[in-house]
Amino acid sequence: MALFNALNRVRLLSEIVLMLSLVVLLAIALTYIFRPIRSVRSRISNIQLNNLDTALISLDGQPVELQPILTEFNRMVRRLEVSAQNQKQFASTISHEFRTPLTVISGFIQSVLNRAEDLDSRYRESLSIADKEAFRLNRMLSDLLDLSRADNHQLKVLREPFDCIKSCREALRLTQFAFPKNIIKLDDSHLQDSVWVIGDPDCLVKCLENLIGNAVKYSEAESTIDLGIDVKDQLVLFTVQDYGQGIPKDQQARIFERFVRADGVTLRRGESSSGLGLSIVKMLMESMGGNVSVQSEIGVGSRFTLTLQRSLS
Ligand code: ADP
Repeated sequence: MALFNALNRVRLLSEIVLMLSLVVLLAIALTYIFRPIRSVRSRISNIQLNNLDTALISLDGQPVELQPILTEFNRMVRRLEVSAQNQKQFASTISHEFRTPLTVISGFIQSVLNRAEDLDSRYRESLSIADKEAFRLNRMLSDLLDLSRADNHQLKVLREPFDCIKSCREALRLTQFAFPKNIIKLDDSHLQDSVWVIGDPDCLVKCLENLIGNAVKYSEAESTIDLGIDVKDQLVLFTVQDYGQGIPKDQQARIFERFVRADGVTLRRGESSSGLGLSIVKMLMESMGGNVSVQSEIGVGSRFTLTLQRSLS
């Protein structure tokens, strides 16, 4: 009886060991079988419209069962490439072709406005609105053109030493002229006469103008905007601080994407927005080797920070 029980236990044990070995073997086999699928999945999840040229998956070494699917996938990527290229070309052509007539229209509106002092105030007002709208359209086209040039790797952004204090003062001059009712202050009294950074002076002015324009647009009329420059080790930080409505926390990462407007942020009457400005700022800053970030609190205001590498030359 004792022998029978012992034999039974041995048999049970060997069955358990066999089962466990089978489970382990199955797990190893499944890992091996699904490895190519996992690798393909991770390649697919990294695909974006601007890196389609690297999205094609080679069939070499892939399991035979997966090859027809990958062939179809590669065909789809090629079709997407053609349509993305057409889309970029379309945006670039449209913005380019629209700009010349628009500049002519703006020129004529301004020349009428400048000469017609005795014009009825209602007509003057209508012409001023047309002038403002033409300016806005021109701005939007220029933004679209910059983005499509960047997509086509045709945008020229310098990476050379320049004095950023000059650029900040230029941005201040331009924006104070564009928004005469706002008080825009630049605090650079703690700095030497010049601070050198690596990048493109025109691009920095453009980024600052963009951020100051937003600060004005999303705050009360006639509000104050504070500009700051700070040197921190090898970096130079430019801040644009407003005391406006602020941006909800869950929207702060989204606003740097193209055509995105933050949910919960409202525009004043008469103002308009395209959702392009911050994506251009981001693209320009990254092209200069820098970056842009935001800190914001509802009802308190927003602070955008641009960062560039300091040049010690
Ligand atoms: P636009 O202002 O033309 O919509 P942007 O890309 O410059 O485009 O900004 C994206 C969105 O981010 C805006 O629509 C707005 O919702 C929000 N935003 C940007 N700057 C500010 C700011 N200073 N205060 C509050 N919201 C802002």
